[in-house]
Amino acid sequence: MNNTDEKIKRTGKVYLVGAGPGDPGLITLRGKYLLERAEVVVYDYLASKKLLRHVPDTAKLIYAGKKGGGLHAFTQQEINGLLVEHARAGKMVVRLKGGDPFIFGRGAEEIEELVQASIPFEVVPGVTSATAAATYAGIPITHRGYTASVAFVTGHEDPTKKESNIAWDKLATGAGTIVVYMGIKNLPIITAKLIEHGRDPQTPVAVVRWASTPQQHSVEGTLETITEVVRESGIKPPALVIVGEVVKLRNTIDWFEKRPLFGKQVVVTRTREQASELVSLLEENGADCLEYSTIHIEPVEDTGAVDAALGEIDTYDWLLFTSINAVTWFFKRLFELKMDARDLRCRIAVVGRTTADELQRYGIRADLLPEKFTGEGLAEALIQEGVQGARILLPRALKAREVLPQRLTAAGAEVQVAPVYRNVPPQGRKEELREQLQSGMIDLITFTSSSTVRNFLTMVDARDQEELHRLMDGVTIAAIGPITARTVTDAGLKVDIQPERYTISDMVQAIVNHYREGGAG
Ligand code: SAH
Repeated sequence: MNNTDEKIKRTGKVYLVGAGPGDPGLITLRGKYLLERAEVVVYDYLASKKLLRHVPDTAKLIYAGKKGGGLHAFTQQEINGLLVEHARAGKMVVRLKGGDPFIFGRGAEEIEELVQASIPFEVVPGVTSATAAATYAGIPITHRGYTASVAFVTGHEDPTKKESNIAWDKLATGAGTIVVYMGIKNLPIITAKLIEHGRDPQTPVAVVRWASTPQQHSVEGTLETITEVVRESGIKPPALVIVGEVVKLRNTIDWFEKRPLFGKQVVVTRTREQASELVSLLEENGADCLEYSTIHIEPVEDTGAVDAALGEIDTYDWLLFTSINAVTWFFKRLFELKMDARDLRCRIAVVGRTTADELQRYGIRADLLPEKFTGEGLAEALIQEGVQGARILLPRALKAREVLPQRLTAAGAEVQVAPVYRNVPPQGRKEELREQLQSGMIDLITFTSSSTVRNFLTMVDARDQEELHRLMDGVTIAAIGPITARTVTDAGLKVDIQPERYTISDMVQAIVNHYREGGAG
């Protein structure tokens, strides 16, 4: 092994990655790939925290936040030092920077330091906040009918100082669209400069704060009025100033802030395994989801009952599924026993549409779907079919309501309950949830089963009813169906939203309708 090889082996690498403007969906595939393999992540104030989801649990996370003009968690010098230090220790380091690393991001300064220290590096571009802010505010940054040029400038430096790097005189009329980064503090001077150098005072201007995030806030004015508009609306950094005729198109194109749940903070209480469908539907509609996996699903330790039933599966007349989890874990065990769907020759009934859809993924169409998607509804539908003397297998959670097996047994069926999974209450994050409730930032909480309600209450850990009511004051509650709603009311809380059909998509639709109709909370 020669010297160079040894060096490469011992030295890590630094990846300077553009995080995009805020929406965690706007990172590149390359950026996500690197985050998934990072050993150390040094991230910025402007990089979306949600991107840290991609990082392995074992990675070291370092917040190197630098807020414009305010607190510096680290100086630029210290950040450069951190990158060098961890790379020297042989680590794969991702330096995650808001927007694009080379657009007003001091990315080059960090690279120069790496070069000096002979540390290998790579740079991954990102969606810069200027294009994102324009797009998410409904402004096409260029347009054949309006402008063929766009300029990105920093408003950070004082435009009145003599040695300014920006030729405001040429810029004022030289570029069709002008986007100013870090321009809020100097906005009065910037607009005055542009007007002084010949730009029409009536030129439309938009200012967009926290672009592409659920906190996005945008306002509109002209070069003459925008300073006042910004002052009145209380807009603070980080924000971008977009100057040009294209701003006029916003009236037609604005889409992001028009989504029905835009700006709503929603607590999603679901099992981690199942949260994704609910979260993506809510996010599609503009909500900001705070995920709390209130329960965690695990297979049962004792598979004796299900194994025995599968051993004589041909003797059963019916197989019942009352949840997606039951389907998932039943099939998992079936496959582990080297069996497959062809072994299930009995008739199959499911409690509701979502469970039916899950079953379909295994190539099986349910024979029976009740009109009412509850255990009671399913019992009723089966009894109508005639269950006298029928052998029924019910794979389900270790702890579950007994009403379904009880009713069927009472109607003369022989029911075999076979636990296939269990709900495990979560650990941690209690404090975070309580703080969010206390600060009044939560608009809505969704409950998709009674156990999510119970586990939520355990997490909130209110001293008494009074404290619970104080924490939940102003929070809207959505429950997926009547059983879940009962658990909510039993706890002394009120259900505001409940869909007619007990599915995730119906619940999201009911939430959307609630806010469309101007629901408070
Ligand atoms: N490298 C970044 C810019 C860093 S400079 C990029 O490519 O976007 C920091 C400035 O960027 C902020 O002061 C603000 O003007 C702008 N900015 C960054 N993210 C923003 C966002 N989500 N919304 C509005 N402005 C943003």
